[in-house]
Amino acid sequence: QDIVLSVNNLTIGYSSGQEVLRACRDVSFEVVSGETLGIVGESGSGKSSLLMALARLLPPNGEIVGGSVSLSGVGDLFELSSEQMRRVRGSTIGYVPQQPMSAFNPTMKVGRQVAEPLKIHNRLSYRESLPRVLQALNGMGLSDATRVANAFPHELSGGMLQRAMLAQATITNPRILLADEPTSALDVTVQRQIIELLKEVSLEHNLSTIIVSHDLEVVSRIADKILVMYGGRMEEHGPRDNVLQDPKHPYSHALLASRLTADQERKAPLPALTGFPLDLRGVDREAGCPFRSRCSRVIPICEVEFPRTTSGATEFACHNPMGSS
Ligand code: ATP
Ligand code: MG
Repeated sequence: QDIVLSVNNLTIGYSSGQEVLRACRDVSFEVVSGETLGIVGESGSGKSSLLMALARLLPPNGEIVGGSVSLSGVGDLFELSSEQMRRVRGSTIGYVPQQPMSAFNPTMKVGRQVAEPLKIHNRLSYRESLPRVLQALNGMGLSDATRVANAFPHELSGGMLQRAMLAQATITNPRILLADEPTSALDVTVQRQIIELLKEVSLEHNLSTIIVSHDLEVVSRIADKILVMYGGRMEEHGPRDNVLQDPKHPYSHALLASRLTADQERKAPLPALTGFPLDLRGVDREAGCPFRSRCSRVIPICEVEFPRTTSGATEFACHNPMGSS
């Protein structure tokens, strides 16, 4: 299968005042055509930063500190001018930010916003693009597409806006869709419907997808591969079933353990984990594993050295993985 996206040793930093924070360190993975990669990890693990970097939409205080991202047929994204990148975004790459409600312009009808990529990339007028707008809205499960197209954002529900945002991101038939928490603000039924739709759309158009979620349940429904992040580091990466059934990293294991508790407890934040989420400030000055202070399997070397990646059924970065004595 052909590789659509290849991420190599990507490191992302934010500066605020004197402080520099590494939101992602040495992240590497590939996405092949038609494949869905699910990225999971708790709040602050660097998921959105990673996706924003891939779309080259980091905020002004964010920067690519190192690494490269290669998109098939385009080349290294970090070598493109911002004008070239603007053309790639919306034609070859579809991007849905974490807060799509606020991404909509409140004063513009939804249909015109969904049509925007066609205006920019194909120079189509709204009238010309309308059939594709309606088709795209329909394809995302909005059967009342004409009404949706003519509505203003505040007239639609969160689920409808999320679907409209996905319609906009896929209207140009991109090779890869980057979707940041596409369902987190929605109720469970709507979440499931949207996940099913994304799966269908990706199969139908051979679309590769990277879907970010803090919810392993959502990710395990749709993803072919799973990438587990913690503290800006890749802790584990591999085929879904291998990660779910035989996680090697204690953090993956803890995430799964929290999922497998009783249904009502599932909403509780990571009951299997103790301690506090990592404070990333200063982390780049430290060499150890970011998970060590909460890890049940910590050994002395974890304090001083981030583990090399081990390849087995999954790739994982741990000095003392699950199943070893
Ligand atoms: P969530 O699940 O809450 O969306 P996330 O995994 O998407 O979290 P990021 O938003 O990528 O995590 O944040 C990674 C780290 O970078 C966090 O420590 C966060 O506080 C920090 N960060 C994010 N944006 C900025 C910014 N503009 N300036 C400084 N630090 C930032
Ligand atoms: Mg995020």
